[in-house]
Amino acid sequence: MHKLTELPAWERLFKKIIWKQIGDIRDKKILDFGSGEGITADHFAEHNDVTAIEPDEDMLQNAWTDHAYTRIVGDVSALAEFADDTFDIVICHNVLEYIDDKKSVVQELTRVLKPGGIMSVAKHNRTGRIMQMAVLLDDFDKANALLDGKNSTASKFGEIRYYEDDEINEWVSDLDVEKCYGIRTFWDLQQKQEKHADEEWQEAMASLDMRVSEMEAFRQIAFFHHLILKNNHREEIEAENPFMKEAIAEALEGIYNGHGGPFGCVIVKDGKIVGRGHNRVLAIIDSTAHGEISAIRDAEKALGTHDLSGCELYTTGEPCPMCLNAILWANIEKVYYGCTISDNAGIGFRDEKFDQLSGGREAFQDFLVCIDRPACQRLFEVYNSLEHVIY
Ligand SMILES: [Zn+2]
Repeated sequence: MHKLTELPAWERLFKKIIWKQIGDIRDKKILDFGSGEGITADHFAEHNDVTAIEPDEDMLQNAWTDHAYTRIVGDVSALAEFADDTFDIVICHNVLEYIDDKKSVVQELTRVLKPGGIMSVAKHNRTGRIMQMAVLLDDFDKANALLDGKNSTASKFGEIRYYEDDEINEWVSDLDVEKCYGIRTFWDLQQKQEKHADEEWQEAMASLDMRVSEMEAFRQIAFFHHLILKNNHREEIEAENPFMKEAIAEALEGIYNGHGGPFGCVIVKDGKIVGRGHNRVLAIIDSTAHGEISAIRDAEKALGTHDLSGCELYTTGEPCPMCLNAILWANIEKVYYGCTISDNAGIGFRDEKFDQLSGGREAFQDFLVCIDRPACQRLFEVYNSLEHVIY
């Protein structure tokens, strides 16, 4: 069993802090890209399903493997074998500065990251490096060169090609910086090396480093930055019927915000949308807040009447018995739905059971019309790929 104390003091501190910033994650699919000696991969493999990719075969051979995880020798091309949206979390620590084409690597990492997933990127911070050159290494030429915008070199991996924190979002617009922490703000400035090995000193230093890691003034001079980026990619789904497309857009709004199931609805009168809504069961803690009910309430409020005669309703999933009866009470004349009751059951909802209890739907044959089922099935797939709660 490896212990962190085997590592040089600076690396031990680095790992302790960055793991704390990532948090206590469990039961996730994690990719560690550029996993090096596998110390971080091994740490998270205790409670997660981890895949580590590392181009250096020797490093991978000697990697820490106290906990089981998948190890792959390779670079960005090794990601080709992974499907879109495979991982919950992508870790990429001190890797991009050694790569020329950072943009295409970040694009590929984002492809395998689920929408809503997190990317943890550790990177050199130029200002911190300049302080290091000036204060610790007495290398004024390098300090001046860095100030002139030149790159520097690391002992192990060659040239450090700096990039700015906000460049990642320019490369991949779906990736937004949620948090930026500074790491190694103070500890290298302590030049008595024997102090660095002192456990008590380390604890106190790690806690002080954590304390200032989100304070702007300290972050600017930290040696490293740790970016937590979120994949805010949102799917757009085309449908043949323009009103069904609107109902799907309503549903997407709901599922990306965690409001409830993939059920969106619009109500149309004289070719115009007069009401819209999506499932909000989880958002407002209300088991009756289905998409159809929400849209009916919206339309009645907008039109100033409880009588929706002359209206048609478009919904992404075949209405449940509760909604079907609410639709009748509202005098809506036609219902167009995408996914069928058995599709609803297929993603875990209890529609079939309730439908049998209330006598099936033979009486509604002419009233209910299925359209755009493939587009709505795609919506259900998107919903399934996101983290969600079935109720
Ligand atoms: Zn319903």
